[in-house]
Amino acid sequence: IQQEQRTAAQQPAVTQDGRLIQIVANIGGIADARVALANGAEGVGLLRSEFLYFDRESSPTEEEQVEQYEAIASMLSPRPLIIRTLDIGGDKPLSYLNLASEPNPFLGWRGIRFLLDSPDVLKTQLRAILRATHHYPIKVMFPMIACLREIRAAKEILATAQAELYRAGIPFNESMEVGMMVEVPAAVAMAEKLAAEVDFFSIGTNDLSQYVMASDRTNPKVATLADAFEPAVLRMIQQTIQAARQAGIGVGVCGELASLPLATPILVGLGVDELSMNPPSIGAIKAAVGRLSIEEAQAIARDVLQLDSSEAVREYVAQKAGRLI
Ligand code: PEP
Ligand code: MG
Repeated sequence: IQQEQRTAAQQPAVTQDGRLIQIVANIGGIADARVALANGAEGVGLLRSEFLYFDRESSPTEEEQVEQYEAIASMLSPRPLIIRTLDIGGDKPLSYLNLASEPNPFLGWRGIRFLLDSPDVLKTQLRAILRATHHYPIKVMFPMIACLREIRAAKEILATAQAELYRAGIPFNESMEVGMMVEVPAAVAMAEKLAAEVDFFSIGTNDLSQYVMASDRTNPKVATLADAFEPAVLRMIQQTIQAARQAGIGVGVCGELASLPLATPILVGLGVDELSMNPPSIGAIKAAVGRLSIEEAQAIARDVLQLDSSEAVREYVAQKAGRLI
């Protein structure tokens, strides 16, 4: 099996009946990019940009950020890189950003909420990302979007950043793709309207599970409830993928669920284009995709949505697809 995964890791992930699934990596900096490539990543589906802001006394400058984004993108080139704007909040207090610790950080001032209240931080980051698009295939995505107002406001700041660069004669890719994380249940409920605002969705199953199940993913007393195999979570994933497909935009999964072979038949069956994961999982997931047919995967996905519990879902997939994953 290990030999099979090593071989699979360097090949594209294609189902038995010819559907290509993009297998990309979640990374948190340049060292991870090297590991991602060694593990067979076809690009990066999630660069967590938080690393740029830790262990310092002030925000990284535009120049510093351009340098980091270009260094990562050039290592990956010509493979694509999705940069997620800063997703920070009261669970990781940062004094220079006025982030105080909060009693309920996961329901608090984090992600896009913080960024829209700190437009200079967001605009600087967006200018840096745009500048890096001049030479590299980079896309941007916004975290924690809960409503249309937020994605529209974020895009307005992006438009301002573009206008500034344009006026200054600084080159950038004017058609950079813009996406959003779907990780708040409200965004799932509004997915067909949100899909009209962006070029792609990336489903964050870590946060989506904790918010759908109302259980803090860091609290050991309740964290097991935040299980992405819960039919309630899977139904929300289905709803999101359907909205994306209807709108004709791309859709991927970048939460932990994407790295679990037991979830591969479900996610492929529901219709994802892309799975983004921690690099060591890439070989196993590519191998799992290669053993599936779309028809089998669709039947499994349809069936698990009707089950009663996460345990039943796991058992069902193991029994149906055990030989496949
Ligand atoms: C997620 O929420 O699933 C996700 C990928 O983002 P993070 O784990 O960085 O919150
Ligand atoms: Mg998240």
